[in-house]
Amino acid sequence: MKRDQFYLPNGIIYLDGNSLGPVPKAAAARVQQAVTDEWGEQLITAWNKAGWFHQPRDLGNRLAPIIGAQNGSVVIGDTLSIKVYQALAAGLNLRPERTVILTDSGNFPTDLYMAEGLIKVIDRDIELKVVLPEEVGKHLDETVAVMMLTQVDYRTGRLHDMAELTKKAHEVGAVALWDLAHSAGALPVDLEACHPEFAVGCTYKYLNAGPGAPAFIYTRPDLADKAEPALSGWMGHNKPFSFERTYTPSPSVERMRVGTPPVLQMAALSAALDIWEDVSLHDIRAKSIELSELFIAEVEKRCPEFLLISPRDSALRGSQVSFAFEHGYPVIQALIADGVIGDFREPNVMRFGFTPLYIEREDVLNAVCILEKIMREKSWQQEQFSKRSEVT
Ligand SMILES: *Cc1c(COP(=O)(O)O)cnc(C)c1O
Repeated sequence: MKRDQFYLPNGIIYLDGNSLGPVPKAAAARVQQAVTDEWGEQLITAWNKAGWFHQPRDLGNRLAPIIGAQNGSVVIGDTLSIKVYQALAAGLNLRPERTVILTDSGNFPTDLYMAEGLIKVIDRDIELKVVLPEEVGKHLDETVAVMMLTQVDYRTGRLHDMAELTKKAHEVGAVALWDLAHSAGALPVDLEACHPEFAVGCTYKYLNAGPGAPAFIYTRPDLADKAEPALSGWMGHNKPFSFERTYTPSPSVERMRVGTPPVLQMAALSAALDIWEDVSLHDIRAKSIELSELFIAEVEKRCPEFLLISPRDSALRGSQVSFAFEHGYPVIQALIADGVIGDFREPNVMRFGFTPLYIEREDVLNAVCILEKIMREKSWQQEQFSKRSEVT
């Protein structure tokens, strides 16, 4: 679809774009320009002249269509962990009389850790209730202040029905907060139709804005001037440059800004978003399903020792496929050594992402051939493949 717009190293089949997207070819020049022409020539005047100050809002508006959000409802900044914290705190504030944050055991650890940390500092008794993903609906009741879920399970790829669960949450009066880390750029998302109060996500996975790229936060437009920002930094102030003694939040989603934005990383994000201008998320979804189905069928045919742990029904799956295997770690290392990059998640999960912007059927077939060879020749048993790196 857009393969020629990415730099992909020779001889590499990249099935890890769900974790860190590859570099858009235009990114280097865009960052270079921000360094030399803007930072270099314009110095501090670039905050006005090059539009640095409004980048979080402007890039939020460019990202909004990818997640079905209205203009003016998304702002960029910080990391996803921080955005989870902000959205959760604001959600709890909207339901001061309630006592439960409902989430599921498929959520990404940082989302749960941020909730734990938040609970410790707020002056309220809140329980973090972690239930099985398939039982979230059952646990939605009038005690729930915020239902905080990640739409696509990072381990298995299991996909929550966002419209249905949001509706259920609203029926019991709970606030809905969705983490779209593995959804944005992976499948069609319609925030406007699903109508959750908050959504957050990152831009370095399927959106390809680079390591450490800033996150995004969506606030439903009717709450833009009501959601209480827990991290009341000066960039979220109504008039940051009045330098007032006390904090008054911006009346828009920009109240979710905290401090100075990462300008150079935003330049990379801008280049990454250019690629999405004429991409249909429905086409992305169709091809993602085609590639995933092909991968599952080929792996099951040729590597019977692996157990599919992703939902078999493509309608219940995001854009990644995971297989369990006791020796998953060394198998993934052997694969990487042979030019196929996937990743490993504890305890035994081999994870592969399918990113239609730059992955084709041929890549999938070649990757499975290499995988089959590694298994047949048992090359994964070589000692060097069991040595654990810090980042898996
Ligand atoms: C990738 C991911 C994160 C990462 O958070 P950072 O603050 O960007 O490191 C958080 N939550 C989910 C669900 C993720 O998939």
